[in-house]
Amino acid sequence: MKSVGSKRQFKSFFRALRMIQNMTPLLIPATVLNALLQSFMPFIPIFMTARIIDELFGARSVARLSLLVVSTIVLSFIVFLILKGTERIKKISNQRLFYLGKYEMDRLILRTNYENTEKPRFHLRKQKIEDASIIGKRGIWRIPDLLERTLTSFCTVVISIILAYPTFIPSKSQNATSFESSIWQSIVLIILIILSSCYSLFSNSRFSKKFFKELDHGMKFNRLFSYYEDLLRDDNRFGKDVRIYHQSELILKSFNDFNKLNTRFQSNIGRLQGRFSGINAAVTSIISGFVYLFVGIKALNGSISIGSVVQYVGAINQFTTSFSKMITSISDSWHNIKYVQLYFDFLDTPSLKSEGQIPISIDRNSKYEIEFRNVSFKYLESDAYALRNISLKINSGERIAVVGMNGSGKTTFIKLLCRLYDPQEGQILLNGVNIQQYKFQDYMNFLSVVFQDFQLFAFPLGQNVSSDINYDEQRTLEYLDEVGIGEKVRSLPNGLETPLYKVDEDGVDISGGEAQKIAIARALYKDSPFIILDEPTAALDPRAEFDIYSKLQRIVKNKTIIFISHRLSSCRFCNEILVLDKGKLIQKGTHDELVQDKSGKYFELWNAQAQYYQLNS
Ligand code: ADP
Repeated sequence: MKSVGSKRQFKSFFRALRMIQNMTPLLIPATVLNALLQSFMPFIPIFMTARIIDELFGARSVARLSLLVVSTIVLSFIVFLILKGTERIKKISNQRLFYLGKYEMDRLILRTNYENTEKPRFHLRKQKIEDASIIGKRGIWRIPDLLERTLTSFCTVVISIILAYPTFIPSKSQNATSFESSIWQSIVLIILIILSSCYSLFSNSRFSKKFFKELDHGMKFNRLFSYYEDLLRDDNRFGKDVRIYHQSELILKSFNDFNKLNTRFQSNIGRLQGRFSGINAAVTSIISGFVYLFVGIKALNGSISIGSVVQYVGAINQFTTSFSKMITSISDSWHNIKYVQLYFDFLDTPSLKSEGQIPISIDRNSKYEIEFRNVSFKYLESDAYALRNISLKINSGERIAVVGMNGSGKTTFIKLLCRLYDPQEGQILLNGVNIQQYKFQDYMNFLSVVFQDFQLFAFPLGQNVSSDINYDEQRTLEYLDEVGIGEKVRSLPNGLETPLYKVDEDGVDISGGEAQKIAIARALYKDSPFIILDEPTAALDPRAEFDIYSKLQRIVKNKTIIFISHRLSSCRFCNEILVLDKGKLIQKGTHDELVQDKSGKYFELWNAQAQYYQLNS
């Protein structure tokens, strides 16, 4: 089991490296170069100072001393300049990686099937990835930094071993007793270094475990905090309820609770980090003391030069600190892979639907027939059928109304027709072919839908209607005129270029009714053969709704319109009304036919709404 897990972790790591390389081709080379130079840099003064001291205590040649000093300065300066360059590349590339990495997740959300986006777990997973990147600096975004720290410490360890190695080898010129004591001193020091390395390994793994436990815990607070922050940011939407029901106290209390928990979380993390680095620093200092003693004795014995004291002490100290850093960064990288996997698992969210292959060429003069053949559907995690054994046909040019009580399945019917879900039983056919077999994008062009909870965006009004940056102004205004909002749009300071909502300073806020009219104009602009209106006129008064529906009949000519409306009076002009009840199609016919059946559901609904049709008749 363990090896399968490790294999998966390595796979994720290399996949992440490939992804980073594709998104920001300079980041990994800059990181590797930076790591090599950073590990090399501390040894320049250590190595060169040793040579300079030896020269001072030896031949004292001015020319050689000058050469050594100048080489030290020039070499340090060159390394410093290259490091500055790579740092800059890394900074820009890391920002790019941050945005592109998030963009990949947003792209998935926009493209994955709708069914996925309706699952709360889907969004929670994204939130967890984002929290981990913000609070714990974990995930794919952390890989370059961890790679650099691991490489730097690894190279430093290697260089320090090369530089310190001669001090552990007793000189052949020593007499037998001092040769033997020299060997013992080396063994003792090596054992001490190994012990401190083992301690570093052990304490790091304990620290990491505790740290990640605290981090997971802390992410929960952050999720709640983000939720309350969103509430306050969207004061327009929530402000009314918050004021009427005095909910501000509840929200403020939650903020305070969050604050307390967050402070505790931060102090727990701080305490852990403090204890870990404090003990590590103490162990490193003790080892340093022994290193000075060991190298000092050798210098007193005369078995190494004074200059070499600087080299060996520096190199062994570099070894002990870098070894501990190497262990920390390897262990951090290992734990970080868990968050990289979360990221890839999210990006790999399986597509639950087939994309389809058959193209649809949309032609104004073609005839289209939609058929529901014994269609039944249940939502995921629900036992009850939302639609049960529906069979019906809808032809080009027809005006269809779908009516029924709340929860009778009207919206589900539309969602299936729009391929947002696939039925578990039966088939939906377009011209005799299962709609799942058509290319998804072509099928989307075949339909225009205004949902109950339609969304307009904070883009210019004209772009909202046309769903395009470049749009036909004349056509856009014509449709806005048809739905009865053209005059208002013309009176806006920037006309069609006026952004909606106050996100932009020049933006305008619009009423619910105006938004619905714009959404209907958007559906008309799309010019699809089938137009579906799922109670989009709820914010309009009955007369305005009736006006729009009557006008629509004229505008859409030979297109098919499917209406869902609670106001039966608005459906009277339809040539077929489908009555749904508890997911079943219980009646169908024209208004005049259905209203005759005094025991039928339609008559019951019609009677209940008598006041509306008196108004409109
Ligand atoms: P209507 O549009 O007629 O009000 P719906 O089609 O929205 O009815 O709902 C039909 C049934 O399916 C209802 O019982 C509703 O609770 C259920 N339902 C609707 N959407 C979901 C969903 N996303 N998950 C689970 N059940 C749902």
